[in-house]
Amino acid sequence: MSQNLPLAGRIAVVTGASSGIGEATARKLAEQGAAVALLARRKDRLQALAEGIRAAGGRALALAVDARDRTAVADAARSIAAELGTVDLVVNNAGVMLPSGVEEHRVADFEQMIDLNVTGVMRVVDAFVDPLVAAAGKGGPSDLINISSIAAHGVFATFAVYCATKAAVTHLSRNLRAELGPKRVRVSVVEPGFVDTELQGHMTDEKAKAWIASAKQQITWLTADDLANTIAFTAGLPRHVNLSHVTVMPTEQV
Ligand code: NDP
Repeated sequence: MSQNLPLAGRIAVVTGASSGIGEATARKLAEQGAAVALLARRKDRLQALAEGIRAAGGRALALAVDARDRTAVADAARSIAAELGTVDLVVNNAGVMLPSGVEEHRVADFEQMIDLNVTGVMRVVDAFVDPLVAAAGKGGPSDLINISSIAAHGVFATFAVYCATKAAVTHLSRNLRAELGPKRVRVSVVEPGFVDTELQGHMTDEKAKAWIASAKQQITWLTADDLANTIAFTAGLPRHVNLSHVTVMPTEQV
């Protein structure tokens, strides 16, 4: 791998790397020279991605981790430190979107969204904040990039819990920036509009599915690569520049 690449020498972690935005981002960060740790539950997909990155000359480590499991996340952080080194770039991306009306009482879905999208994001912060601060202290760039959504600001019937989880991620990021920015860790929150990934495929609510299908016909959605490019650009900026709040929209989405 060339030392001239923008992210050469960086050690990255991407959660939710088995599909969509996380997979595309992991591939892009590796292309730009970073060593990448790939976290998600589907190990076969992570291994295939890691093999592809290695075949292209990069460094990758695949770790099957459920971000709802605090011990598994902490164990992964220890394995990454031992095998790749001090993490200086975290893309905190794993998330689920399971809309349903409150009167349907799908409490398990509410719990899954809150446990992954909010508590899971904080488990990952907890596991990697020490290396991020250490890396910043050594004089290099250090990034915590949290993936929220424009849903953080939206009001959509049946999406109340998802929107609330993303509002939490956005506000969490602003507050973490106040704490970590003075230590030279850049905290960024990325809020995409519609991105063509597996995310919507997990929905079961018929009205929500119809709304999404119609939106897909009407406008050109973002691709996972569009987000990967934005995230890699954010991480590749000079150390004193923090793109702290990034909204990425399909041009036609209002
Ligand atoms: P995908 O469904 O393609 O990716 C979600 C990723 O999260 C997968 O890799 C999945 O892997 C992982 N994941 C799910 N549950 C867990 C878990 N319990 N532990 C660890 N990893 C888990 O969707 P996207 O790429 O679209 O989503 C990525 C992020 O982008 C999410 O936070 C989403 O909210 C956000 N976003 C997406 C938008 C869109 O329109 N697609 C718009 C705005 C924001 P696995 O199943 O293998 O564990």
